[in-house]
Amino acid sequence: MPQANAKLNAFPVFVRVEGEAVAIVGGGEEALAKARLIGQSSAVLRIITENAEPELLAFIAQSGASQVAAAYDASQLDGAVMVFAASGDETLDRRVAADARKLGIPVNAVDRPELCDFFTPALVNRAPVAIAIGTEGAGPVLAQMLRGRIDQMLSPSLGSLATLAASLRGAAETLLPKGNARRRFWSSFFQGAPAHAVEAGQLSRAHDAAVDLLLSNAPASGHISLVGAGPGAEDLLTLRAHRLLMEADVIVHDALVPEAVVAMGRRDAERLGVGKRKGCHTKSQAEINALLVELGRQGKRVVRLKSGDPLVFGRAGEEMAALRDAGIAYEVVPGVTAAFAAAADFELPLTLRGVSSSMVFTTGHDLKGNSLPDWAKLAISGATVAVYMGRSVAAEVAGRLIEAGLSPDTAVAVVENASLANRRRFHGTLADLPSLEARGDLSGPVMTIIGDAVAGANFERSEPLAAHRHEDLGHESAATAATERVQP
Ligand code: SAH
Repeated sequence: MPQANAKLNAFPVFVRVEGEAVAIVGGGEEALAKARLIGQSSAVLRIITENAEPELLAFIAQSGASQVAAAYDASQLDGAVMVFAASGDETLDRRVAADARKLGIPVNAVDRPELCDFFTPALVNRAPVAIAIGTEGAGPVLAQMLRGRIDQMLSPSLGSLATLAASLRGAAETLLPKGNARRRFWSSFFQGAPAHAVEAGQLSRAHDAAVDLLLSNAPASGHISLVGAGPGAEDLLTLRAHRLLMEADVIVHDALVPEAVVAMGRRDAERLGVGKRKGCHTKSQAEINALLVELGRQGKRVVRLKSGDPLVFGRAGEEMAALRDAGIAYEVVPGVTAAFAAAADFELPLTLRGVSSSMVFTTGHDLKGNSLPDWAKLAISGATVAVYMGRSVAAEVAGRLIEAGLSPDTAVAVVENASLANRRRFHGTLADLPSLEARGDLSGPVMTIIGDAVAGANFERSEPLAAHRHEDLGHESAATAATERVQP
């Protein structure tokens, strides 16, 4: 995601060049490189040089560019919409740049950024679709590398698909009302039968499929995707989650989902934050259920974005029940749950041969009564336990497990902000765990992992929990209250 304060010093735009003259001054390889680049457009190339090298001459002959085979003179730039000073001769390039500026024509001087009004991009060309990559001087190697990667991602037939789309634009605007219906048509066009036919090289079948789609007039039906956003890092989102975010009309997200992930959605998608952090519910669960049903009835494509995996302490069960009752279509897209991200940050094997072969996901909030819940018994028999929302009950969890027979020396790993750059790792034993509750220095979500398998983790980058063991315990810190989600 872009940093908030990073500003571009050169802003990309697309310049109309169809039938317009573009002048290139120079006869060597710099001129040839620019000629090849601009030769990908329908501009009329005017190459100004007395002595063109053979390769440039061959290019001129084969591309239909014109050559002005005379000593350079400012009048030769007349009428051009762009000028390239590409002679390889500094004095001449400076003169060309000054002349172009006098004539009011934007100029690019090869390898002399201080003389340039504009820079040329590395280009992925699927005309009429163009992807221009600029690095503001960070280097052509980086630009070419990105170009290569993007080129691979895009189907060679993308240009034909875009051309077909352009030919149908008028019809789509006449036949389909602006908004959801039109967007849905284009989404099916670019991903459905028309796209597949173009890919297979069957242009007339693609056209027919597009017309069918245009006339099918199916009423928009809503669809809700319950999507796992992962633990926080944007690149732990699944490709499917990313695609659905790009297609969504509305994104309904929890407070724990970072802004950077929500921002990956379509730019004009509606974004609704619905809480919830302990102590500051924006909407009740019943209100969220009703909101999803309502959006579905309006025919919206909704991404219900939840942190981690939607089916792990995400109250997805209630949302799915409400959608089922209302007859609204939905799907579930899994995500990387916090326990897995925390384990990865600690290089911690959740199952370990001969040590632990089962795993428990719990909140620890069910330890209040007299009888121990099943998970505590599992912990005693060697399961690895991942405690969600466990900070405010850390002392209770440790105390009850020790009371029930788990050794106070059992290894514990704690990660705040797992997967994010600002994560913090702590290690210790069950006896150290209560100190977590009183810490005021943890303001992000916290995952606690308990069990003998934790001893197999890498503690090189973690701080000892015990450092805080003797602090005043007893009250839940303000930070805990602010960031822990309410017990479902
Ligand atoms: N559905 C989510 C869990 C929601 S409950 C999932 O699968 O991960 C919220 C709890 O998840 C938090 O209190 C915390 O215990 C844990 N959590 C979520 N993101 C976390 C992160 N990046 N680092 C550590 N714990 C996290």
